[in-house]
Amino acid sequence: PSAMREVMVQAPNVGWDDIGGLDAAREKLREGVELPLKHPDAFRRMGIRAAKGFLLYGPPGTGKTLLAKAVAREAQANFIATKSSDLLSKWYGESEQQISRLFARARQVAPTVIFIDELDSLVPARGGGLGEPAVTERVVNTILAEMDGLEELQSVVVIGATNRPNLIDPALLRPGRFDELVYVSVPDEGGRRRILGIHVGKMPLADDVDLDVLARRTDRFTGADLEDLVRRAGLMALRDSLDAQTVTMAHFTHALEETRASVTPEMEREY
Ligand code: ATP
Repeated sequence: PSAMREVMVQAPNVGWDDIGGLDAAREKLREGVELPLKHPDAFRRMGIRAAKGFLLYGPPGTGKTLLAKAVAREAQANFIATKSSDLLSKWYGESEQQISRLFARARQVAPTVIFIDELDSLVPARGGGLGEPAVTERVVNTILAEMDGLEELQSVVVIGATNRPNLIDPALLRPGRFDELVYVSVPDEGGRRRILGIHVGKMPLADDVDLDVLARRTDRFTGADLEDLVRRAGLMALRDSLDAQTVTMAHFTHALEETRASVTPEMEREY
């Protein structure tokens, strides 16, 4: 029984407007991915190469997947999302084959953004991995060969994501590989305000709901935490009454008592 998986090509439905905060990361991806995919001629004329690989790193739930999808959509590129557990197989040679199929499919439907989540467990530095060292080494070599084989401006860009950048094999971080590091941080107050605004988009809010106050009271909350808070506030309203017409500030305050930031200051200091 082979574990080989179909490589799924998507047209992502997330754009820059769906992302709150993360201005610096957004700008870096716009310039590094969107521009070269949309205007390869301009890069050729200037005689400069475009980056092939980007590494998004930062705490979980901060919007790394969202950023990769949005840049693909804004660049009018196809999007192929995968993660280590999809690529790694216990069958001899299958992980390498799966990786090669991934890149082949990406070239076929280019322009393409390949997104590889959990990159640290796919290509961990020697000794740090979950897999057997020999498998890990072959997987690293396959990825390196595939990335080296991507010609300049061939319209395939690889975006990796990790919560633990220090576990990644340094060979992958050399120029021509994942040579652009993009920190995706926990949002500040302004970022939180914008993320809350996005997630209450479809919610009937009572007049007393003050998103500025909520943004102030959610220090260290990630985008995923804020989305969860909004959902819980909606549930609170329904718990009060299934006929509820609006979600009030009291529902939010109540929900806030039940949630907390998933990222601790210690975790943040690791980056
Ligand atoms: P992980 O490291 O766990 O894979 P991630 O950084 O890739 O997490 P996402 O999957 O992009 O995080 O985010 C999870 C969900 O949280 C998103 O689908 C979105 O609803 C919400 N979210 C996270 N960050 C943001 C943001 N900056 N703006 C709006 N929503 C966000």
